[in-house]
Amino acid sequence: MSITVHQFPCLSDNYGFLVRDDATGLAACIDTPDAAAILRELAGLGWKLDLILNTHWHPDHAGGNAEIKAATGATVVGPKEVERIGQAPDRQVAGGDSVSLGETQFQVLESGGHTLGHIAFFDAADRVAFVGDTLFALGCGRLFEGTPEQMWDSLQRLAALPDDTKVYCAHEYTAANARFALSVDDEPAVKARTEAIFAARERGEWTVPTTIGLEKATNPFLRAPLLADRMGLAGAKDHEAFAAVRAAKDSFKG
Ligand code: ZN
Ligand code: FE
Repeated sequence: MSITVHQFPCLSDNYGFLVRDDATGLAACIDTPDAAAILRELAGLGWKLDLILNTHWHPDHAGGNAEIKAATGATVVGPKEVERIGQAPDRQVAGGDSVSLGETQFQVLESGGHTLGHIAFFDAADRVAFVGDTLFALGCGRLFEGTPEQMWDSLQRLAALPDDTKVYCAHEYTAANARFALSVDDEPAVKARTEAIFAARERGEWTVPTTIGLEKATNPFLRAPLLADRMGLAGAKDHEAFAAVRAAKDSFKG
């Protein structure tokens, strides 16, 4: 079993992802930030789109569903909340479900917090996860709809994946996240990673995908319980420490 992932930037800071099941040639797109860009990339690759997999309802993730479905006949698979952008998914999925693309299986992981119904897709055989706006390189999604406790649980579900899992986040927010990470965490591994990130962005390189192991070692949101003392929150519960780091990021002017 194997997959090929084709990644490309679109909109101002989104990434589009096309995934092909190599055994059958069937393809999926993860979210639909920009229908024209996705259709153009598909044509360039000569891939046949079978599935649209949505992580959450936001327009920069599901806004291209109708146009891409009309152009390709692909089946839309996503959480119920996707109906908020105008059309219910053809197949509703939630945590615990699985979705097949040819011979490839994606486990659906509940990852609410950024939106209530947010989900992630994990291909265990290839160790690849598409996490939408839940986990970013050195960051995590804003809590537009969920509670810190819900988001913390979602992040722990992702952190429990194998360390070498490639994590495809939906935005290139890493340089801004790195400036914040430096302001709350003096761990040498964090400093080293942020320097590598600033240099990579200077060269115009992408910082996505990342890995679960790298995020566990350096992401201030996953490391929140270890930062609690420093933030004057000794004895705080893990999700309370997470809430404090999230609040600090929301008001950070870096
Ligand atoms: Zn979003
Ligand atoms: Fe987004």
